[in-house]
Amino acid sequence: MRDFANESRYPMIPMEKAIEIILEIVRPLHPVSIARDELLGHVLAEDVRAEENMPPFATSHMDGYAVVATDDSKRRRVLGEQDAGAQLDVTVRQGTAVRIMTGAPLPPGADAIIPVEETTETDGYVSLPGAVPEGQWVHPVGQDYAVGDLIIPKGSVVGPPEIGLLANLGRSDLLAYPKPRVAVIATGDEIVAADETPGPGQIRDGNSYALCAAIRETGAIAQRVNRIVDNRRALYEAILEAVSETSVVVTSGGVSMGTRDLVKPVLAELGTVHFGRVAVKPGKPLTLATIKGTIVFGLPGFPVSSLVSFENFVRPALRVMMGHRALWRPEVTAYLRHDIAHKPDRTEFQRAVIRQKNGGTWWATTTGSQVSSRLRSLMGANALLRIPR
Ligand code: AMP
Ligand code: MG
Repeated sequence: MRDFANESRYPMIPMEKAIEIILEIVRPLHPVSIARDELLGHVLAEDVRAEENMPPFATSHMDGYAVVATDDSKRRRVLGEQDAGAQLDVTVRQGTAVRIMTGAPLPPGADAIIPVEETTETDGYVSLPGAVPEGQWVHPVGQDYAVGDLIIPKGSVVGPPEIGLLANLGRSDLLAYPKPRVAVIATGDEIVAADETPGPGQIRDGNSYALCAAIRETGAIAQRVNRIVDNRRALYEAILEAVSETSVVVTSGGVSMGTRDLVKPVLAELGTVHFGRVAVKPGKPLTLATIKGTIVFGLPGFPVSSLVSFENFVRPALRVMMGHRALWRPEVTAYLRHDIAHKPDRTEFQRAVIRQKNGGTWWATTTGSQVSSRLRSLMGANALLRIPR
């Protein structure tokens, strides 16, 4: 006889408790050495300090003339041209100037730049306004950073400016948190792959594709496994194989109360189930297990439930593993433009578009029907409305 119990053996826990359990279990992955050009999006696990000054020598910040600042003569002999990337062998003194390009080293004797727009040069002489403040348009040694400066503190997320600074410093191969590999398994007798033709009673899988995209968007590596039928042996083998190859496994479907919802018992057989029901909507049957050090999230099958559960529970866990300190999206308080129905006994997440009115109050508009099969309710949404229990 198939088990068709009308009561779950797992107690319903509040969302906050579920998050607490997840954060107790997940740990950042061990930092590894990663080449600079592969570092985008990774979190650094070491401090980066400057071993050189930037600029390494005083340079001009303008195209113009290098001069002695206190020189008040209005006409000076031009000694030559100092281009970027070269070093002219002249010294600037009273009554002389050197034509200079942006980024070129300041010639000896010069301590200010007069922009070309304020000058006229004819027959080897340049007319200038006169004395200027010392240091005008000079980019002094170490102004951007100096030897010993902490340039990128550990814990920073590497973005384009960090990549640029690492290149400036001549650094590569830095200690950083690796990206976890996450296996995604869609379950269900009725599910076929996206490029297959559904038979009678079947539908195409959307969840494993959406979840893989969400995993990549989070910065982790997604590995899609072909859908597994609602069969204990098949699920057991697929999950066992997935946990041996990845740091996280995400399943979709098969965690509810149906006779063919076999993910929970299989997880319990393979490892430890930490919770099997959470007071959230959508996503009540969300399940968390650990099997041989791999974390398994059993997400519900309804498309909205699986993606919203991913957002609320899997994404923060992946961010911990990737070394992020900031786990959550920004939160604001918003006013509803309309009434909404809601389940008072669960923390509910409704998909909405929020807009700030004249830089002040946020206003939320629903994306329409919130039924958990309707993936389109997530399209265009820029917010999840958290409606408290
Ligand atoms: P389950 O959680 O397995 O009871 O599935 C709940 C509902 O979600 C059922 O209507 C399923 O057909 C549907 N569903 C389950 N898995 C998927 C999937 N991978 N893609 C789209 N719909 C799914
Ligand atoms: Mg199912």
